[in-house]
Amino acid sequence: MQIAQHCFALMGFAYTPPWSVNAGFIVGDEKTLIVDSGPHILAAATIEGYAHAVRPSNQLLLINTERHLDHISGNSHFADNGVEVYGHVGIQRQNSELKSDIDEYIACTPNAVRRKREEAAIVFTGTRIINPIYKITSEIKFNLGNLNAEVLLTPGHTPTNLCVFVPAERVLFCGDSVVSRYLPNLEGGSVRDWQQWLSTLDRIVALEAEVLVCGHGPILQGDNVPKEIQRVRTIIERAILGKKAPTSYESGK
Ligand SMILES: [Zn+2]
Repeated sequence: MQIAQHCFALMGFAYTPPWSVNAGFIVGDEKTLIVDSGPHILAAATIEGYAHAVRPSNQLLLINTERHLDHISGNSHFADNGVEVYGHVGIQRQNSELKSDIDEYIACTPNAVRRKREEAAIVFTGTRIINPIYKITSEIKFNLGNLNAEVLLTPGHTPTNLCVFVPAERVLFCGDSVVSRYLPNLEGGSVRDWQQWLSTLDRIVALEAEVLVCGHGPILQGDNVPKEIQRVRTIIERAILGKKAPTSYESGK
């Protein structure tokens, strides 16, 4: 869907429940910057198709917002088609890790026959890990042709998280630094990471973005932007106090 004159979002690619994953792209006069490659190459092909169709003459570039596989597993589709793949230098994943994510996805199949047939793996056919080739170590700007996209380093969820901001349209592709409606995923981090995450949220607030394309969940606009950032902040603050991720409480509260 189009969310601003030059910004688009692709929503709801299936992943291990309860997660569905988003991606997006930013279209300048000369280059189109795709943000995240989806959880498998089928999603990647869909993302590429839309990104190409909006302005077919543009060169395509891809950037990953973090190291988790739901944001990078479509990379091989783009790399195989000559697209430059950017991402944080700390993104170093393996095919064996993809295999365990696929196994987890298969295990979620309710029907025993379909589970045994591993039908859930069909969507991952041909998917393999390609890590970013252009490694980001500092904040950079992409000139897409009369349109800038700024890369902000936003650690917290993982040390590799980054956001892509389009100042001209006040659109922020924030990856999992802000998830919409979901409990933020704190499982992979420590109290130190969560404290960093709070600083990242301060930075995101200061951008005064009008639209947030989150890594997961519905797009945020208007009043929902500060509201959801505050919701995520409260959950992280509680986790820091209790030294426990919210998903580790059995009651689910
Ligand atoms: Zn994610």
